[in-house]
Amino acid sequence: MTKAIRIHAPGGPDAMKWEDVPTPEPGPGEAVVKHEAVGLNYIDVYFRTGLYKAPSLPLTIGMEGAGVVSAVGTGVTNVAVGDRVAYAGAIGAYATERALPADKLVKLPAEIDCKTGAAMMLQGMTAQYLLRRTHPVKAGETIVVHAAAGGVGLIMCQWARHLGATVIGVVSSEAKAALARAHGATHTIVGYDNLVAEVKRITGGAMVPVVYDSIGKDTFTASLDCLAPLGLMVSYGNASGPVPPVDIGILAAKGSLYLTRPTLATHTARHADLLATANDLFDVVKQGAVKIEVNQTFALKDAAAAHIALESRKTTGSTVLLP
Ligand code: NDP
Repeated sequence: MTKAIRIHAPGGPDAMKWEDVPTPEPGPGEAVVKHEAVGLNYIDVYFRTGLYKAPSLPLTIGMEGAGVVSAVGTGVTNVAVGDRVAYAGAIGAYATERALPADKLVKLPAEIDCKTGAAMMLQGMTAQYLLRRTHPVKAGETIVVHAAAGGVGLIMCQWARHLGATVIGVVSSEAKAALARAHGATHTIVGYDNLVAEVKRITGGAMVPVVYDSIGKDTFTASLDCLAPLGLMVSYGNASGPVPPVDIGILAAKGSLYLTRPTLATHTARHADLLATANDLFDVVKQGAVKIEVNQTFALKDAAAAHIALESRKTTGSTVLLP
C-alpha cells in the first residue's frame, strides 16, 4: 500500500483524507513517479469544493508533482526508471507515488531540483502561454496582472519584465505589493475598489492592451474597464468565484474588446507543445530571469492546512507539499 490524500465527496478542507491506497502499477503507456514534492494550485481547491466536477470518487486531487520514475509500462519511450521528472495537469498528484500517462512527463534539467520542479510546472507553464501565446507581450507594453504576489502572479511579474513590459500588479495588501514590486512589477494597486481609476492614472488615460484576470467574479467588469479599445481580457481563473454569464454586447460598448477564457490543458495537450512550453520555462529559470519562490511548505498529509492558507489569501508565491 501507499498513501494519498483523497476526497469521497466535495467539501471543505476536512473533506481531504490521508488514506492507504494500493501501490500503483504502470499500465501500457504509463509511468510510476515516486514524488519528492507535490505542487499546490488553486485548481486543487476547485476540485475539492466541487466547482470543477470530480471525474470519479473517491478522488486523489492534485495536478502537479516532481520526483523519480520508479517503473514504466509497455510502450514508454520518453522516460526511463531513475529519471528525474515533473508534470502538470494530471489529476492524482496528492500521493506518495502515482501512475500517470508517460507523455505528461518532462525530464527535469540538472539545474532544477524536484521541489522547484513541483512548484513551477503548472504556474510557470501557465505564465508561459499567457504571456507568450494568449497575448504575446511586447517590450514597451503596459499590462495588468491580478493576484500579482501569488503563484502564477510572481512568475508573471518577473517574466513580463524580462520581456520588456511594464507590469501593473494588483494585490490585496501592502506587503504583497512590496513583494510584487521586488519581482518586477513597476506599479502596484492595493485592493480592487479603485482599480479602473488607478490604471487610468498610471497609464495617463491610455489604459492597457491586456488584463490577466485570475480573480473571476469580483473583478470581471472592472478588468474590462481597464482595457484600451480593442484590448484583450484574459479571464483565466475563479479565485473569487466563476464569472456569471456575460452579455457579449458589453464587449462592443466598451470598445470592441476581445475576451478569452484559456486553459493550460489546451495549450499543452500535444506532447510537442508540452515540451516547448516546459523548455521555454526552464530557459528563463536557468537564466535567472524568473526565480521560483517556494514561500510555503507543508507535509502532504497536512494538505488541509495548505488549502486553508491558500483560500484565506495567506500564501505568496508557490507552495509545495512534501510526501
Ligand atoms: P494564487 O497563489 O494566485 O492564490 C490566489 C490569489 O487570488 C490569492 O492569494 C489572492 O491574492 C487572490 N484572490 C482574490 N480574491 C480572492 C478570493 N475571494 N479568495 C481567494 N483568493 C483571492 O493561486 P495560483 O497561483 O495557484 O492560481 C492563480 C489563479 O490562476 C487561480 O485563479 C487559478 O485558478 C488560475 N489558474 C488558471 C490556469 C489556467 O490555465 N486557466 C492555470 C493555473 C492557474 P490577493 O490577496 O493579492 O488578492
